Formats: sequence, C-alpha cells, structure tokens
Amino acid sequence: MKLVRFGPQGSERPGLIDTQGCLRDLGAVLPDIGPEQLGDAVLDSVRRLNWDRLPKVGGAPRLGCPVARVGKFIAIGLNYADHAQEAKLPVPTEPVVFMKATSCLQGPSDPVMLPKGSLKTDWEVELGVVIGARARHVAIKDALHHVAGYCLVNDLSERAFQLERGGTWDKGKGCDTFGPVGPWLVTRDELTHPQRLKLWLDVNGQPMQRGRTQTMIFSVAKLVSYVSQFMTLLPGDLITTGTPPGVGMGRQPPVFLKPGDTLTLGIEGLGEQRQVIVPFKR
Ligand code: ZN
Repeated sequence: MKLVRFGPQGSERPGLIDTQGCLRDLGAVLPDIGPEQLGDAVLDSVRRLNWDRLPKVGGAPRLGCPVARVGKFIAIGLNYADHAQEAKLPVPTEPVVFMKATSCLQGPSDPVMLPKGSLKTDWEVELGVVIGARARHVAIKDALHHVAGYCLVNDLSERAFQLERGGTWDKGKGCDTFGPVGPWLVTRDELTHPQRLKLWLDVNGQPMQRGRTQTMIFSVAKLVSYVSQFMTLLPGDLITTGTPPGVGMGRQPPVFLKPGDTLTLGIEGLGEQRQVIVPFKR
C-alpha cells in the first residue's frame, strides 16, 4: 500500500495511491498519517476498505512528507563501503548514528534552500525506514516486524558545516529543507526485499549516484535492532539508512549545489523526487 499526504504545507490530508495509480482521499477515514496510524491494526483496516469508494483527487496536488509528526529523524552514516571510501573515512565497525532535525522534513518535490553561508551543500539518496511499533532492544530477526514501511529520503548535507566546524555532524544535516521525504510511504507488505533495491540520483540530468541496497554494510534489520539498544524507537520515527557512492564531495574536483540546480532521485518501488535548489531567504 502506498500512503501519501497531499495539499498545502501544514494542512496536508491523508491519501493513498490505488492500484491504477490514482490518488484517493482518506480524509474521511483517517485524521492523518502519523504515529497513531502506523500500527498494523489501522493499516490493515485501510487495506480492507473498498478503495473504489474513496474520493478521487484530481490534478496533481503537492505532496508532503508522507508521515506526520515524525518524533525522531535518525540517520546512519557511511553505511556503504564504497561511500566511506569516497568520503575518505574508515569503514565503520559499528553503525554511525546521528540525528537530523525534524524541522528539516518536507515534501518530496519542495524546493531545497541553501543555508545562509552555504559553501558545500551536497546530496545523498537514501532508503528511509518508518517505525510502526515500539522497539526497545529488539533482536535482528524480529526487527522488521516493528517497521511500518519504507520511503525515499534525500539526506541533504552542508559539508563545511558537517565536517569543518567542529563537533558532531548534526550542524550540517538539519538545515531547513534538508529532509525531503516521499512521495509515498510504502507499507512493508508491499516492499518485502529492502536489501534488493536500486537507488539513483541525478544533478541537472547528469547521473551522480547509482547504488543498490545489497551493498549496505549494516542491513535495515540490523540497524533497527542496533538503534533500539540505545533509544526506544516509537511509531513515526524515521531512520534514513545511508547513501551509496556518488556524492558531490567525492567527485574530482568536488561538485556542490548552487541556485537553479535540479536534483532528481529515486528508489525502485518507492517513487521519485525532484528538487530545485534556491538561495537562502530569511
Ligand atoms: Zn546520509
């Protein structure tokens, strides 16, 4: 099942994409798609509805982040060996965990704004994992039962803020607009092979990132289990699982984003995003 939130920023309505690819309004059925709706019981009840009776939504409304009120936006660093190499950082022996500010979340095709003083804004196509059931010290073999579904994430990063300004990476990861998510939340019953997906990202139509989730160092199940040893994962938490090679800082010479650039990216089964880069505005 492909769930969406559509409409103007801040007043999105819940919806789903039916088997014909039509957007249908779930507003009469669910208040929203957020932590309270991500458990198996509610998702099963939506699955059982007669979708033909749900109102069709015309046109092509803006899509928002497909999950409302994300509590934690957790990110995994250097989870593809070939990306660690291009970043000139050692392949980690344990997952690198950092946080992205939830205030950076936005829809899949909203513009991306360069932060004030940006020198090195960069892209990262990633597989996102949305938690559906509380997870605390869960075993790897049980971990995917705690997942509601998957989504496409662009983990935008300001490399100078991330790597040259001291301390942890978080300063370069949570700038406003640095967390496009969507178009869809694809429930886990529909995406049964999270470790067999192609990922891609182009800048101005030029291929930059090409990867496969097969080459992750730590699998989705391992990451959910691992993070749950350090913090309780709650419904609506989002974990973005690291990026394959091809980021701007890894190129010779490095390439960073400037106003007017266009990013297009996608993951097999999870849809596509398109973002125009715009200058900082207060
Ligand atoms: Zn990342």
